[in-house]
Amino acid sequence: MPSYNPNSTLDDRILWLPSSNGIYSAASAMKSLRTPHPLVSWYKIVWFPQNILRMGFILWLAIKGRLSTLDRVQRYDPQVVTTCVLCNSQAETHAHLFFECFYSKVI
Ligand SMILES: [Zn+2]
Repeated sequence: MPSYNPNSTLDDRILWLPSSNGIYSAASAMKSLRTPHPLVSWYKIVWFPQNILRMGFILWLAIKGRLSTLDRVQRYDPQVVTTCVLCNSQAETHAHLFFECFYSKVI
């Protein structure tokens, strides 16, 4: 087992190792936690300086097809009725909500 002899003449100091300068920042913490992925071509549609984070997040989920539409909820709860709550005529899916539902087209 390697031995370690600390230098008793130096003061202890705290370093944030994931940062290149040793200083903690929210950005360096986030960078150390996330796994980098390549940028998608549409990211500027969702993330831009004046965006509203909540709206950007919802748009990102919609683009990825990950909103909790009833067809997706049914995968976890087979008892869920998937009929669209807006028009009450077809199954609630992403395609239906954004492109087919007559009620959502009106609003
Ligand atoms: Zn509908």
